[in-house]
Amino acid sequence: MKQIVVISGKGGTGKTVVTGSFAALAKNKVMVDCDVDAADLHLLLHPTVKERHEFRSGQTAVIDKKLCRKCGKCALVCRFGEIKTDYTIEDFSCEGCALCSQICPHGAIQMEENVAGEWFVSDTQHGPFVHAKLGIAEENSGKLVAKIRQVAKELAEKSGLDYVIIDGPPGIGCPVIASLSGVDCALIVTEPTLSGLHDAQRVLEVAKHFNILVKFVVNKYDLNLTMTGKIEEFCREQDVPVIGKIAFDMTVVKALVEGKTIIEYAECAASDEARKIWEDLE
Ligand code: SF4
Ligand code: SF4
Repeated sequence: MKQIVVISGKGGTGKTVVTGSFAALAKNKVMVDCDVDAADLHLLLHPTVKERHEFRSGQTAVIDKKLCRKCGKCALVCRFGEIKTDYTIEDFSCEGCALCSQICPHGAIQMEENVAGEWFVSDTQHGPFVHAKLGIAEENSGKLVAKIRQVAKELAEKSGLDYVIIDGPPGIGCPVIASLSGVDCALIVTEPTLSGLHDAQRVLEVAKHFNILVKFVVNKYDLNLTMTGKIEEFCREQDVPVIGKIAFDMTVVKALVEGKTIIEYAECAASDEARKIWEDLE
């Protein structure tokens, strides 16, 4: 079983378009959406949720009004000023440091685990799909990514699947590192802009740090041929192959509007290139 992650270094490069095409092309795989802060692969895969689980992470202080003697000690030590004058704490503002619960002389403050999001195991017409939704203003998306990757890997092993195909998050932060660790190949999708190249360079450094096989795809390459040339030159210098160049194609936009992968929607230059890219990876 092989794990492939599609990443981009920045949002909006067409990463999910490419991953969605793999969902339609690859046989015998599980799909995973690790962009848990702004998940969107479900818009193309139309999952039927089979399992729904709470994701618990972090803690919030809760004051028991029956035990509280209103001495004010907790409010004095909370450096975030989260304890209000009526000795209540709002869930979303508490940083969960637990100092107030340690300081309270009457044992009136308990630390309770937060429900920070949900994760799902679903069926789609393209096979199983593991995905998640992080709650508003919740942190620890790296932990949630690690969780759904573990679930997908176990599902693939149990069902004898050949691939785990991961739609990775943008950027180079904790959720990206959680998406990259232990994969067999990272496909970096970039666009021919200066910021596209810059962010792809950064995420390549992260992937190289983990000694992962890396390949590049340039999306909408024909919108700026000079910049595409610079990306190809950079890849040559880094000894990283560019395995596909997808031209700007209004068919892709129409497919997205209809919530379909480019493979399902129509035969076009973009779907032909996606087929070529998947054959290379396979
Ligand atoms: S320290 Fe404890 S008893 Fe004192 S105000 Fe805070 S919660 Fe109430
Ligand atoms: S847990 Fe920390 S941040 Fe939250 S109310 Fe207590 S002292 Fe303030």
